[in-house]
Amino acid sequence: MPSIITSQTIDIQPSWKTEFSQCISSIDELLGRLQLKPEQLSPSHQAATDFPLRVPRPFVERMKIGDPNDPLLAQVLPVIQETQSAVGYSADPLEETQHNPVPGIVHKYRNRLLLIVSPSCAINCRYCFRRHFPYQENRQSKEQWQQAIAYISRSKEINEVIFSGGDPLAANDNFLSWLTKQIADIPHIKRLRIHSRLPVVIPSRIDEPFLSWITATRLKPIIVLHINHSNEIDSSVQNMIQRLLSRGILILNQTVLLKGINDDAQVLSELSETVYDAGVLPYYLHLLDPIEGASHFDISQQRAEHIFHQLQAELPGFLVPKLVREIPGKKSKTLMGQVNN
Ligand SMILES: *Cc1c(COP(=O)(O)O)cnc(C)c1O
Ligand code: SF4
Repeated sequence: MPSIITSQTIDIQPSWKTEFSQCISSIDELLGRLQLKPEQLSPSHQAATDFPLRVPRPFVERMKIGDPNDPLLAQVLPVIQETQSAVGYSADPLEETQHNPVPGIVHKYRNRLLLIVSPSCAINCRYCFRRHFPYQENRQSKEQWQQAIAYISRSKEINEVIFSGGDPLAANDNFLSWLTKQIADIPHIKRLRIHSRLPVVIPSRIDEPFLSWITATRLKPIIVLHINHSNEIDSSVQNMIQRLLSRGILILNQTVLLKGINDDAQVLSELSETVYDAGVLPYYLHLLDPIEGASHFDISQQRAEHIFHQLQAELPGFLVPKLVREIPGKKSKTLMGQVNN
């Protein structure tokens, strides 16, 4: 009998693919659900034409009804400021298109590289540094994937492969499992890292089919989530993290420092505490990349370092994320805020 109850319980849960396909993509629908009027914000249909609004319903459920300053809403709502261009902001600030040795690979650092596994995302984050990346040129056939795998095979200094995107977990598990097997056949690869925001915005993504391939590989798996505010963590996210932890998977979190969303030591301290309580360690706090259309999220380096020093005074060292910036041409991320003043 209990097994019947279990299977019924699973059946009524929507699958992640259903939730992925039923995202909200209309400004009016989003504001309507939150009982907000357009006059309270500055939504822009023009900005949504350039980079569409896209937000999964489980994430919308964590937004506060009637709050025009909700930190989750501000991450996804297309606004007028995006259409105003700013000096020094470009479409490819990280020069990723110059480090594309074969389609699907971004190789900048000596012993690890990114595989652009999927061009799509479940959520379109307005500040995203990948909003202008030429994903179409990085869309792969299986033969092209064989070329990417051959590149990793002959690059003997690589010991870690990072699934990136877009969002790598937007790809289906059959493909991810196949790709992982090809990589695990390369003796010099030790670790498989997955950088994904999808489990945060659609927690049902971490299901049995996913857990079965990720635990079947000889590669040591690491998942780096992307959470910017403690309001993003509800019980469904805590349960998703538990499913990963119960299989022994290391989970880290990275955050982007965003004006009006988390540019405050108190907010960041609460984020670190909340992710730790859920079983996750803070990894990076990124300064925003100077991407076209996102300058209204930027804060000065001086203010970022000031907030970071306040945060250091609030938390034990292991809960302080590393404040970093990506500077083109460097061999790693660049640590900031190292001098206390
Ligand atoms: C950020 C990044 C990595 C990973 O860097 P870590 O410091 O190891 O987290 C790898 N490759 C590229 C191109 C990156 O941008
Ligand atoms: S790549 Fe990450 S930050 Fe960018 S839109 Fe997708 S989920 Fe958001």
